[in-house]
Amino acid sequence: MRLLILGPPGVGKGTQAVKISKVFKIPHISTGDILREAVKNKTEVGIKANEYMGKGELVPDSVVIELIKDRIKNKDCQNGYLLDGFPRTLGQAKALDTVLSELNTRLDKVIQLYADEDEIVIRLTGRRLCNNCGRNYHVKYLAPKKESVCDDCGATLSQREDDTEKIVRNRLQVYDKKTKDLIDYYKEKNILVSVDAGRQIDTIANEILKKLNNISLCSGQS
Ligand code: AMP
Repeated sequence: MRLLILGPPGVGKGTQAVKISKVFKIPHISTGDILREAVKNKTEVGIKANEYMGKGELVPDSVVIELIKDRIKNKDCQNGYLLDGFPRTLGQAKALDTVLSELNTRLDKVIQLYADEDEIVIRLTGRRLCNNCGRNYHVKYLAPKKESVCDDCGATLSQREDDTEKIVRNRLQVYDKKTKDLIDYYKEKNILVSVDAGRQIDTIANEILKKLNNISLCSGQS
């Protein structure tokens, strides 16, 4: 299964990607995670990417395309992968098509998640992360027992720099301007499945799986 998960920031792509990639036993590849790691390690890519990420802008296509090209050629991607947060522009989508055809492969499905914008702002601005073990929380929906402290490891929780309201609004505008067109791009290729992400996490995951399996069975793919 070569999958891609698409939708505005904060719609729950990462959460669903973890679940779906486990079911299909394929690596979950998030360009946001790769870039954040590069920023943390102060690599050349990280230093460059940080200028854009801090403002909620997109990192230049050339940078992320190279990252993904290298990543999907890895051995662990031979049986598929789930891309999360890439592509985000038409240029990236076309570059991905080129790499896929060079590798004699293609995307099986693109999962589009959608939700109400005000709900997305609440989700993102309330999101907190454990600096130590990586567990996710939400100040309202998934609060830790003790404020700002991880239930599992006791470390301090923090907020992603780009989860403040001003930057969240900018990220949503960037999505509308640059990424939304990809929905039509993949719809025309007949590989898009759309799922309402304004519901419980497991309900959403089940619907994604149902839609993927149904379509796979109909088209005779595994
Ligand atoms: P995410 O974790 O997917 O919300 O990504 C966080 C930030 O990383 C984005 O706001 C962008 O600055 C950058 N980023 C992640 N993926 C891409 C991409 N495919 N193209 C450009 N920038 C990206």
